[in-house]
Amino acid sequence: MNRPHTPDLRLLLERWRAEHVLVEDEASATNLQRLRWLGPLVVVLNALHVLVFLVLLLGSPAGDAAYRWKLGLLLVHTTMGLGALACTWGAQQLRHRHRGLPGRWLGWVAAAWILACAVAIVSLDQWVTPNISPFLIACLGVGLAIYLRPLPAAGLYVAAYLVFYPVIGWTQHTPELLLSNRLNGITACMMGWALSVLLWRKFTTIALQRRQLEKAHTELQHKQKELERLTRQDGLTGLFNRNTFVELSRSELKRAQRQGSATTILLLDLDHFKRINDTWGHPAGDAVLRHVATLASTTVRSTDLVGRLGGEEFIVLLPNTSVEAGRKLAEKLRLRLEGSPVPWEATRIGVTASFGLASTTPEEKRDFDTLYTEADKALYLAKQRGRNRVV
Ligand code: GH3
Ligand code: MG
Ligand code: MG
Repeated sequence: MNRPHTPDLRLLLERWRAEHVLVEDEASATNLQRLRWLGPLVVVLNALHVLVFLVLLLGSPAGDAAYRWKLGLLLVHTTMGLGALACTWGAQQLRHRHRGLPGRWLGWVAAAWILACAVAIVSLDQWVTPNISPFLIACLGVGLAIYLRPLPAAGLYVAAYLVFYPVIGWTQHTPELLLSNRLNGITACMMGWALSVLLWRKFTTIALQRRQLEKAHTELQHKQKELERLTRQDGLTGLFNRNTFVELSRSELKRAQRQGSATTILLLDLDHFKRINDTWGHPAGDAVLRHVATLASTTVRSTDLVGRLGGEEFIVLLPNTSVEAGRKLAEKLRLRLEGSPVPWEATRIGVTASFGLASTTPEEKRDFDTLYTEADKALYLAKQRGRNRVV
């Protein structure tokens, strides 16, 4: 079936519209921020004009065109300055509420105000000069300084021109100059709008790219954390892996020696684990290993360290624990293991383990490697003496 051809331009405009919705809040926040520092600048400029025209008015005779021009500009610049002051105050008040309707509208109000004042200024100017530069400057200034969505911005510039067109005719009576100014007015509005669209698009692209970067950065941080976790943990059981356990144990032993407390380590090796693998398969063996890990972690205190050295060997470091207390804990763990066969498919797999203990008092100051070697020897004895026991 032939699908109607969708013009590329329509797709582009649809994409733009979707993007513009995404950045609107950010744009209005930027507008408020700009109004907060541009507003005072405009106020100062207006004040300067007011001052100049005030001085000029004092020395000129009332009634002629030049006098009306000076008086008119004095009033327009005063009004414009007051408006700029109000916009600055509004932007200051709304700086944390740029998402709200007033925050969004202030940029538009300021833009419309600037264009309206510019129309008034150039119309008054026609009494003394055919120049419309203030209108051109206002059109470009609005496009440059205030982020406006392209379509409504087009509406704003058209509205400005619709006011400019008749109002300039009130004061410019030379047909050629009037025509020239009206044509130049169109150019000014179009240039202002084009600049506005260009800058708005640039703003949109940059804002969206920055968000993508921020998102990628956050994802990277998550992945980095996950990677760190994986390098510290044993993948099968979630216990500390050998390296991490040894590192943590060394600092724990140092701390215990400084604080003058005893430390016990406990090695646990499952009995005839190979048979479990051979009988029920490796997945069953893995399930047993996970079971033992859970049992060990839930039996000890939260301050104890539990790790998997590799294969079916586990290790526990018991800070602040004498050899006797360690033996009791090992016995408790041994009994719990013996008494909780691991559910596997339709059956339950009985598991036992042998335990080797080693301990140090703060006076003995034995390091981790010594303790580990001793515990391993004890474990060997436990195996020799018939397994399922603590030595
Ligand atoms: P003993 O009572 O003397 O300790 O006998 P054992 O069978 O437990 O000891 P042995 O060292 O002979 O066998 C250990 C077995 O553990 C061999 C190996 O296949 C198995 N094993 C090591 N790592 C894993 C693992 O991650 N998953 C599974 N399912 N098995 C493992
Ligand atoms: Mg072993
Ligand atoms: Mg074993």
